[in-house]
Amino acid sequence: MPPYLGESQESVQTFLKKIDLTQFSDPSALADILSYIDGIDGANNAAKAGFDIALHDLVCQVKGKTLAAFYGLEQTSPLTSFTIGIDTPEKMVNKAMEAAHNDFKVLKIKLGTDHDDLIMKRILEVWNGPFSVDANQGWHDADQALDFTHHLKEEGALFIEQPFPKDDLEKSRWLAERSALPIVADESIKRLSDLNNVKDSFHGINVKLMKTTGIREAFQLIQQAKSLGLKIVLGCMAESSLAVSAMANLTALADWVDLDGPFLIDNDPFEGVKLKDGRLIQSKHPGVGAKPTPKNSLFCE
Ligand code: MG
Repeated sequence: MPPYLGESQESVQTFLKKIDLTQFSDPSALADILSYIDGIDGANNAAKAGFDIALHDLVCQVKGKTLAAFYGLEQTSPLTSFTIGIDTPEKMVNKAMEAAHNDFKVLKIKLGTDHDDLIMKRILEVWNGPFSVDANQGWHDADQALDFTHHLKEEGALFIEQPFPKDDLEKSRWLAERSALPIVADESIKRLSDLNNVKDSFHGINVKLMKTTGIREAFQLIQQAKSLGLKIVLGCMAESSLAVSAMANLTALADWVDLDGPFLIDNDPFEGVKLKDGRLIQSKHPGVGAKPTPKNSLFCE
């Protein structure tokens, strides 16, 4: 569990123990059940997402549908970006070469340092493909950000994610009005209730299941954001194949896909989406498209 989200294995277990489903007899009453789950408390978004994914898996298996079909969508095989985390320029260059070696066709480069120009220069010496930039709230000077955005556009960037601190919506709006590249919100938006607040400060939003409390609200958020003309990034935290495979079912609605969670961890207790030529390949079986991997010790009890 990423500690910066305020959730731990212990907090998830405590939350799950509070759930009492005896009042429900039909698992397909998703709206009622998930609204009860959400009302248990005001936090625990990842724990709620876990429950939401499990419930969707059950209902889709009963109905014999993929999660995509359950929401009336086609499964697609989009390119996913591979994230290059903040590190020394040398290590980031090595990661970019490793990504190319592993057949990823798109990079997402984390910036927000005082030497972003050097990092970009070094990475672009070894990377010719498309890329996006995630400043992770790390930029502060608006004029400098605008200049850099023009430079990144010339270098072939797709979009800029979360340039400024999450609450600095005015600065983001200023940049969005001038930027040659789409400006996408990540930390500035977690749930559907945040959409109204950020819609005029960005060109798009990064939707993640661990922020939205799961598939159901992610789907609603995506639909409403699209109706406002916003672009959609489908993203993830450091996540197992379970959440990423579930989210992959919504890729028909995405402008860009950043579902690389399972490729960034080495203790994945599930298997689901696979990578082929940089594209996500989904399971055609009913359900969310992932299953426990028996070899993992988590399932040896
Ligand atoms: Mg981000």
